[in-house]
Amino acid sequence: MTLRSCALALAALLALTGCTASPVPSPVPGGFPATTTPSVHTPSATPTPSPTATKPSPTPTKKPTPTAPPKDTRKGSQLNTPYLVKGIPVVSKKHRITAAYAPKKPSGAFHLEATTAAALAKMTAAARADGVRIRVRSGYRNWATQNAIYQKAKRNYPQSLSFYAPAGASEHQTGLSVDLWDGVTWSLPMARTATGKWLFTHAHSYGFVLRYPNGKSKITGYHYEPWHYRYIGRADAMKFTGNSLTLEEYLGLA
Ligand SMILES: [Zn+2]
Repeated sequence: MTLRSCALALAALLALTGCTASPVPSPVPGGFPATTTPSVHTPSATPTPSPTATKPSPTPTKKPTPTAPPKDTRKGSQLNTPYLVKGIPVVSKKHRITAAYAPKKPSGAFHLEATTAAALAKMTAAARADGVRIRVRSGYRNWATQNAIYQKAKRNYPQSLSFYAPAGASEHQTGLSVDLWDGVTWSLPMARTATGKWLFTHAHSYGFVLRYPNGKSKITGYHYEPWHYRYIGRADAMKFTGNSLTLEEYLGLA
């Protein structure tokens, strides 16, 4: 095929198929449709992709610089809302909330924050599929209930007070935490039940972390609690596999 016949064949082909490179005909002054636009009807039938389009971008990814979390400077009515670090609410003995705070979108029988309730339902169903039963022993608690629990414990179990949160220092008031068990075995032996083991292995995948790991009381302010799980979302929770990391360490608060 000569160059000329090739050009003719190409022109015929373009006439048949139309030019699909530009789906909307560009209007030309005067109202006539642009039928022959040299820049569109290029003889190059198979456009060669530019090298930059195929090669992966060599742009170096900067390592994030670890930054110290903002200081908890809340006071007055600001204490009606939890201290936030990287979008994660932190409620502890060091970062308390007033009686005014409650879950924004409470859901279900345990009055949990809606996203937490949904994640818990998903996790419970997954455990059930594995033949493991998860029961909620405690979900949301308001300030007054927490205060009553703490005052009672102070009177009756002063030696075990590290299991109990003073009012305003309990994650249960956020509706983001749950105490889980199998409905039979409670307290520390719960860790050795099928439910305790299943949660220990799988909770991260559903966005929950073991909030008070063994041996981390000095950091968390609470005794090891194998039943207390806190929802922080899957992306963050997946970094807690192994259950030795505390939220305080993760957020740079330890
Ligand atoms: Zn708890």
